[in-house]
Amino acid sequence: MWTTCSTARALHGGDYNPDQWEKGRLAADIVSHLPLALQSGEVEVWYQPQVNYDAGKVTGVEALCRWDHDKLGWLLPSEFIPVLEESGLIYDLDRFVWEKVCQDLRRWNERGKRLSASVNLARNDILKDDNIAGHLYDLVKSHGLSPDQLRVEITETAYVEDPALLIATTMKLRELGFAVEMDDFGSGYSSLHMLKEVPVDRIKLDMNFLTGTGDPEKGRAVVSKMIELVSLLGMDMIAEGVETVEQAHFLQERGCSEMQGYYFYKPMPVSDFEAVLEKGDFAVKRG
Ligand code: C2E
Ligand code: MG
Ligand code: MG
Repeated sequence: MWTTCSTARALHGGDYNPDQWEKGRLAADIVSHLPLALQSGEVEVWYQPQVNYDAGKVTGVEALCRWDHDKLGWLLPSEFIPVLEESGLIYDLDRFVWEKVCQDLRRWNERGKRLSASVNLARNDILKDDNIAGHLYDLVKSHGLSPDQLRVEITETAYVEDPALLIATTMKLRELGFAVEMDDFGSGYSSLHMLKEVPVDRIKLDMNFLTGTGDPEKGRAVVSKMIELVSLLGMDMIAEGVETVEQAHFLQERGCSEMQGYYFYKPMPVSDFEAVLEKGDFAVKRG
């Protein structure tokens, strides 16, 4: 630490902020090590099952990456995704994730377990590749998959930041047969305008909406009406971040049966998920 601080002083003169310095070092470790990490198996694709609470079945998965960094240990996406987004390297990570997801979907198809998988698409992926929809199409085809097995998640924030580009990309993806989802709806400054403008197949409602600050009764009223509204607009809905049986029952009663959250399953390595598939143990907790 002393060496680090003195190096910082030497490099930047007397004024430096140790927190900033540590952040910068972390970012450098992440950025410089990514290419090797993608090759060496440090970065893994984990899966979190999505369930239909009415049917008591697993209906899909979301692919979420994890990084067991050589020097820093296990890193969560919240630690490295923003750094990769800022440095423009997110596209390298995401291409790795999409390739792995397609390999896994194909293997599951061959075992008679046809699932759909949600993958996250960052705004910078679209800025980096102006034919991202074509890239994903070629990828699924090269693995013998149908595009409807891949759901593409785009955060509500990305739509707010760059609506024209994101809407054009969404339309292209859907034309090619992909399902598109608006991720994290309700986690930020959600806008009803977005629901009208953005042509997605499914809205992913963040349950922070219920658990965050504010009057919980009012929160429930808003979620109820949101479910009705989304259905009226002809879109599907999935609730994410479902942690309790009470939340699951509430959502089901209000007509939203697709759910994802720790109450059902946490994200898990592919081998654990395949063990679930092999056992045919698709029954979900019913409270
Ligand atoms: P997201 O796409 O909204 O993914 C859902 C996040 O919520 C995941 O966090 C998941 O582990 C967490 N989660 C699931 N169920 C619950 C629950 O019941 N309670 C709570 N509190 N959390 C729950 P994770 O894996 O840390 O990922 C965070 C974010 O990082 C993701 O949010 C996504 O935006 C991004 N991300 C993750 N993997 C990738 C990736 O491969 N590519 C890109 N571009 N972004 C990724
Ligand atoms: Mg997501
Ligand atoms: Mg989300």
